[in-house]
Amino acid sequence: MAKVNYPEEFAGFAILDTKDWNKPKYTTYKPKKLEDNDIDIEIECCGLCGSDIMTAKGGDHGWGSITCPQVVGHEIIGKVVKVGPKVTLHKLGDRVGLGAQAFACLECNRCKHGNEQYCAKGVTTYDGTYEDGYISQGGYASHVRAHEYMCFSIPEKLDSIHAASLCCAGLTVFSPLKRYIPKNLPNGEVPKVAIVGLGGLGHLAVQFCKALGADAYVFSRTDSKKTQSFELGAKGFVATGVDGWEKEYFDQFDLILNCAIGLSGLNIDAFLSILKVEGRFCSVGLPAADEKYNVSPFTFFGNGSCLCSSALGSREEAIELFELAAEHNIVPWVETVPISEAGCETALTRAWNGDVRYRFVFTEFGKAFGTNAPN
Ligand code: NDP
Ligand code: ZN
Repeated sequence: MAKVNYPEEFAGFAILDTKDWNKPKYTTYKPKKLEDNDIDIEIECCGLCGSDIMTAKGGDHGWGSITCPQVVGHEIIGKVVKVGPKVTLHKLGDRVGLGAQAFACLECNRCKHGNEQYCAKGVTTYDGTYEDGYISQGGYASHVRAHEYMCFSIPEKLDSIHAASLCCAGLTVFSPLKRYIPKNLPNGEVPKVAIVGLGGLGHLAVQFCKALGADAYVFSRTDSKKTQSFELGAKGFVATGVDGWEKEYFDQFDLILNCAIGLSGLNIDAFLSILKVEGRFCSVGLPAADEKYNVSPFTFFGNGSCLCSSALGSREEAIELFELAAEHNIVPWVETVPISEAGCETALTRAWNGDVRYRFVFTEFGKAFGTNAPN
């Protein structure tokens, strides 16, 4: 592969057409304009998130049309190789992580209250649109340019291949767990959380529940992940492919965190029935744009439960999560794949088929792009 012509250009593996969602091709492109608070990261590794697949699939059972060429990837670890003139949070040579958000205005009400992930001017790490019309490009690439505030210092104790998945999968589950696991239950009761869908997000949610003092129960479509659920620290396991599974769990859960990528295997009425009064079903899973919840108002009527979503997490939460991960030894289960056209194709295809326990992380970026990133 040719050496990338940085800083004039970045190089990456891009989706050229959503029909070929699992066949990214080597491409070069111009970076966005360097703003005062932007930094450039020379990428060392990048995880493969379910969102990469849903984006790459576009209108064909994905999240809808995208701008091609599109380089996905938003679980990025690398080294700071350039800083804009007003950058204060990072310096050249620092190891940093970048998740699914590359920009927020930092001035609006949401940004000022620790909710910058909901900033109306926010730009996602890939396929997001900056004010000047530039379409963001992600981490299956030699470099990425992002606002310093969205980039996190990584504790030394964490390996890059593990820190990568914490940047999106970790933060996305940590934020709602931190916000919604009830504190101070009567009689010292331990909160009980249902984790639905044991994939990249789900397997981290199980580990974070434990660190946050809650009991996690895994709800998976089959029983094939039962043994591993207990290895991850789950207190219980339920296979939801059998009709009537919910009867045994009526009124037991404080919170359900849905991490499933699809709705076809989810009976929402059944899930809501296992919540305690005023319990919450929070979905971080984002299925294809053509899928809709099918749920009866009478189900909510039965226990005053509520249904909500959660997006990413804040910088403050990211910093807390990295500390917690280092302290509690929370380690994503990853399979590494050297980044290349063939590597991207294999990993995207296998991830879509659920054939990974539980996260792919692309490595060997130095070799693929001729940068100084470690191999
Ligand atoms: P994975 O593919 O790793 O895991 C998804 C899990 O969903 C699978 O392991 C499986 O669990 C379950 N599943 C798959 N298909 C179906 C189906 N048809 N019906 C019900 N369950 C199904 O994906 P990720 O963990 O990377 O991502 C999960 C979701 O979270 C995706 O939709 C992704 O886009 C979204 N996401 C959302 C973010 C946010 O900010 N809210 C940020 C990042 C990702 P099992 O076999 O145990 O049933
Ligand atoms: Zn993600």
